[in-house]
Amino acid sequence: MDNPEILGELDVRFVQPYEAHKAYVCPGCNRDIPPRTHHVVVVPVDAPDLRRHWHKGCWERRRPSS
Ligand SMILES: [Zn+2]
Repeated sequence: MDNPEILGELDVRFVQPYEAHKAYVCPGCNRDIPPRTHHVVVVPVDAPDLRRHWHKGCWERRRPSS
C-alpha cells in the first residue's frame, strides 16, 4: 500500500464527477476508479508529480483518525 505521508505535507482534494475525465487505479485497493466518479486526489506539496487518486472510502478508511 502507498504511504504518501513519507513525502511530507499532503494536499488532499476532492474531485467532482464532472472533473474526472480519466480512469485511475486506487492504491488503497488496486481497483479502477472509473471516469466521472467522485474521488480524492492526494498531492504531496513538495512532490506534486507523485499525486495519487484514491476512492474516497479507501482514503478515509486508511486514515481513520484524521
Ligand atoms: Zn480504492
